[in-house]
Amino acid sequence: MSEGLPERIDRHAPRSGAEGHHGGEGLPERIREHAPRSAGEGRHWSSLLLRNVTLTDGREEDVFIRDGVIAAIGKPGGAGPSHADRSTHASRHAGEPEPPAVELDLTGYLLLPAPVEPHAHLDKAYSADQVPNPDGDLMGAVRGWLAHRTTMSQRDITARAEAAIRAYVANGVTQIRTHVDIGPGIELRGLEAVLAVKAPIRPQIVAFGSNPLSGSDGARNRDLLREAVAMGADVVGACPALDPDPKACIEFCLQLAADARLPLDLHVDEMLDPDPCTLALLADAVLATGFEHGVVASHCVSLGMMPPAQAREIALRVAKAGIAVVCLPQTNLYLQGRMHEAAPPRGLTAMRLLREAGAVVAGGGDNLQDPFNIMGRADALETAALLVMAGHDSPQQAYDAVSTCARRALGLRENPIGVGAAADLLAIRAGSLREAIATAHPDRVVVRAGRVAALTTLTTDWPT
Ligand SMILES: [Zn+2]
Repeated sequence: MSEGLPERIDRHAPRSGAEGHHGGEGLPERIREHAPRSAGEGRHWSSLLLRNVTLTDGREEDVFIRDGVIAAIGKPGGAGPSHADRSTHASRHAGEPEPPAVELDLTGYLLLPAPVEPHAHLDKAYSADQVPNPDGDLMGAVRGWLAHRTTMSQRDITARAEAAIRAYVANGVTQIRTHVDIGPGIELRGLEAVLAVKAPIRPQIVAFGSNPLSGSDGARNRDLLREAVAMGADVVGACPALDPDPKACIEFCLQLAADARLPLDLHVDEMLDPDPCTLALLADAVLATGFEHGVVASHCVSLGMMPPAQAREIALRVAKAGIAVVCLPQTNLYLQGRMHEAAPPRGLTAMRLLREAGAVVAGGGDNLQDPFNIMGRADALETAALLVMAGHDSPQQAYDAVSTCARRALGLRENPIGVGAAADLLAIRAGSLREAIATAHPDRVVVRAGRVAALTTLTTDWPT
């Protein structure tokens, strides 16, 4: 818990106990432990009772979690076995149910399925002050970054990646997929650095190959990507639209992923020009090969710039190929449209057409305070708010995009709030989903695999 302001105020005039400030009650004080532990031992998380949480339909419930799974949901006073007997272990009678190991009062908190971050760049995070991008566009960021990445140490990357992971988790995500640069100047250093992170989450790592990956000039980059897969990368990635031969780039990546039985996650058409469109090439290649390990197409900006009939036709092929599309509003609002003197396009993909076609559309945060996006708060609720404002999603659509749909894109088990579901949850001080997205209140409790992974409380003081 952060240090409260009152402790930083030096008081010289004595006051009586009843006078003056009374600070807000910190959340840690709301955790009640029922399972005894010895000195130095961590909390027992075998069971957890979240009391008085509000669900998105407005109901107030208790949620009882056992062994990482939601075991019961009931009216306050009814879900957890502790309510049968709130007495201590010592005074319970034989046959009475065990109290939960840990109990938390979440009155005033909305309970949501935890979001995941489907598209991050942990190796680039928090580098904006070191890597200038005066043009503010994609190629400016690429030029600045390629020059900088030769200078990065493994230790530096690991430290920034760990800080970013903690920020994402504190805000509510329970899994992250990160792209990690593989190529000249950085070689495999970024991958080694991210593999070495010590943080609450071991992210899914996409080996993000450098261009070109095609032709004789691409031989070294292809070798590095193969090495990255052998070292333990979880997903194969690249950026075919920036390759001299996008089709060959896609085919190489698909083959590499198929051989390794790994998913594929490509940066696709991160440009306003609707032609050439590599998304259609990707869909055709996936359909032709029957690739079955999961494909994500990130960005797909061009698709949003096409005449609707053309975009619809491609969207149908994308859906048929089972490709999930990840829309990345932060970075694309930042990078795209700078050449337009009036009415700059928003740079988002054709979300509505893709959904109508039956494709999975997820939302991600992408760059976090680096030259590709100098803003960013590592918060899925920031992404959701932008999907509402810039993409015209409803709050429910936007939250689905950063939670349920993002999980589908990453091949993760879904976590709807219901008995039997994985207890990956975000509780946030709010009365409705719309309010949660609008305020993105800092008061949050993040539950991952049935235990509290992060707990944040904001205290505002009004010194008198
Ligand atoms: Zn990206």
